[in-house]
Amino acid sequence: MAHPAEDVLIDGVLFDLDDTLIDTAAAMHLAGAAAAAVLWPDADPQRLAIAGVRFRSDPGGFFGAYTRGELTFAAMRAARIADLGAWLGAADGQVARAAFDAAYEPAFVAALQTFKDAPACLTALQDNGIRIGLLTNSGADYTAAKLRHTSLAGVTDVVCTRDTLGFGKPDARAFHEACRQLGTDPARTLHIGDELHADPLGAVGAGLRAAWLVRDGALDESVRAEVTRRGIAVIDTLEVVRPGRLGMRLS
Ligand SMILES: [Mg+2]
Repeated sequence: MAHPAEDVLIDGVLFDLDDTLIDTAAAMHLAGAAAAAVLWPDADPQRLAIAGVRFRSDPGGFFGAYTRGELTFAAMRAARIADLGAWLGAADGQVARAAFDAAYEPAFVAALQTFKDAPACLTALQDNGIRIGLLTNSGADYTAAKLRHTSLAGVTDVVCTRDTLGFGKPDARAFHEACRQLGTDPARTLHIGDELHADPLGAVGAGLRAAWLVRDGALDESVRAEVTRRGIAVIDTLEVVRPGRLGMRLS
């Protein structure tokens, strides 16, 4: 495995979307609390206040099951809403999906923000002839809605989603198909994402270059040492993703 400080030519950069280019966590926290307050107004106020945090944390692991192809996107979503309802003490969480979506979705897209360091990063790469793409485990329709409500619609050369690829990260086939669509060799493609298992570990496993975005910088030193040993660059901002930075020579 080459060290990240070693210069390599990079022809394309694949970005994860959620919590990499857009602050999905913050929007989910706000929208989840707003929707729970509408659907389950009699629940414990202390739980209602953190209902969005609970919703995003997905303690049942349903998003992982969807990523592995074990659940449809709709079934994954329904299961997470049912879990939230049960946690709030409701007996009818299973049947509340349509009502939840009606309250959640407008609040979610209204709250969705692009990270301030994302637009300049994408522009700098494009200005230097670098192909850029999105590779997300979310669904195509939902991803399109997220892009419509941020400044990112139409910005990247390709958009690859779990359902249209047929594979989700960290499956190597997801990375390889994204590279094929981007028109770049995996060995000359950099992937940037925030989830260690799905993003950088999946990317290096598929033969791509990888950067792990840890925005709060809070990282156990033993974890940092291990991922660095695997050739993964650890970054806390997209401001360092520039031609000539990251020890990588962007061609
Ligand atoms: Mg992410």
